[in-house]
Amino acid sequence: MIRINIILNRLLILLFCSSWMSASITVYNSVNNQEAELKILDSKASFISAKNLSEILTSRQPYINNDRKKMVLYFSDTRIKISSNTSYVLVDEKVYHMPVYAREKDGDIYLPTVPFFNILKKTVLPGLSYDPKKKRLDINVVDFNITNLEIDQKSNGTILTLYTQQRFDEGHISSFVHDNGWFYLTIQGGLVDTTRIKKVETRGVVAKVTAHQFTESAQLAFRLRSDIIGHEVFQSHDPKTIVITLRTPFDKRADRIRALRKRWQLNTVVLDAGHGGKDGGAVGKKGTREKDIVLDITKRLGLLLEKKTNINVVYTREEDVFIPLWKRTKIANENNGKMFVSIHCNSNPNRTAKGFETYLLSPGKSDDAIELAHRENAVIKMEEHSGQKYKELTGENLIMATMAQSMFMKESEDLAALIQEELSKRLDSPNRGVKQAGFVVLIGASMPNVLIETGFLSNPTEEARLKQAAYRQKIAEGIFYAIIKFRTLREKLLVEG
Ligand SMILES: [Zn+2]
Repeated sequence: MIRINIILNRLLILLFCSSWMSASITVYNSVNNQEAELKILDSKASFISAKNLSEILTSRQPYINNDRKKMVLYFSDTRIKISSNTSYVLVDEKVYHMPVYAREKDGDIYLPTVPFFNILKKTVLPGLSYDPKKKRLDINVVDFNITNLEIDQKSNGTILTLYTQQRFDEGHISSFVHDNGWFYLTIQGGLVDTTRIKKVETRGVVAKVTAHQFTESAQLAFRLRSDIIGHEVFQSHDPKTIVITLRTPFDKRADRIRALRKRWQLNTVVLDAGHGGKDGGAVGKKGTREKDIVLDITKRLGLLLEKKTNINVVYTREEDVFIPLWKRTKIANENNGKMFVSIHCNSNPNRTAKGFETYLLSPGKSDDAIELAHRENAVIKMEEHSGQKYKELTGENLIMATMAQSMFMKESEDLAALIQEELSKRLDSPNRGVKQAGFVVLIGASMPNVLIETGFLSNPTEEARLKQAAYRQKIAEGIFYAIIKFRTLREKLLVEG
């Protein structure tokens, strides 16, 4: 008997609990650390009270029109219009459809729970998650990593600046212009504040902006007023932004493109023999000095270029003299160099280390667009602005500079890869690949630039090889053919451009 009593008691408790639990949905709000009970219409919680929902989730009283059985809920700046006996919900005039009608009871509107929560999640509360089994609604803070957008119109293009909380891998940002006249930007791992983005004032070639949050990516879409002739996407780190330039045709466009092409033509190559004078560089066990080896390779390379091409060759040094790093950059820039090749020999305490490698001299791809633009202004000056100091970036400058920088990086990478490829065809030495390092030598150079470590003077075999004129000639030829291939690639691009 006692046992049965206990069982009965437990049953009663269970019944009591479940009926008590089914009277509401528990709302956990981690934004303000509060918990509330949301009124529901039936024990299955298929409908929720709109009035009560507004009390719990919004700070503003809803607008209620009892006669027309309509209600407006205010989620910060977003208005959500609902009415009973319809399946439609208007979020800032955008129509959402629910599979079930909303119901009216005692002057309140009851909304189909799951469909309405889904609409909230899509629009105003992306951090919302609902567990129908537990009748539990969680409101979490969503840390948007794409927080704002600015659109600026310049004379020959529109600049979109997207404010972010982090850097995105380059491969995670994709963009394209669709035939339907929209420009799409997709960011993998992006969490976009869609409400904020959609409110951005449109300008220039951008007629409309929308943003969509997908499970693993954020997409921004821009409806274009007219065709664009090109676009570029860049990231900067301070402030963290993604800058997109949408270029529109300008007057005398053909002239400018011609001028631009001329500017890009590979007509001057700057050859930089490392070290020199009091700076001997690395020294081999047999006394071979880096400064002598690299000067000889540089001269051999220069001779090939002068003999076999119409490329103008500029040397940072042709003698055994000391040239500070800053001066090397200056020489390169002042001579309108279109490529900078710095030639070196390697050294390592480990005498077995051997092989050749090519470094990208730029301090990385994450260059701030603004910073690089300042750097580029000296080189890329638009005619009508000449003589004017740029305190602020004009559209053209930003566009040209960003374009230039993206080309430098890509081109430096291409050139480095070609050099490694051509050297490995000719040298019986390990290909150590393309590497990146923040060499000071060319910070400030406005052209594709690489630094080649032709071999290890610390390795006895390589020292012996580097001492041979025939071996140095092979190195010079490898670099020469890489430059020729690079030029062909680049000219092809310019023609297609
Ligand atoms: Zn060196």
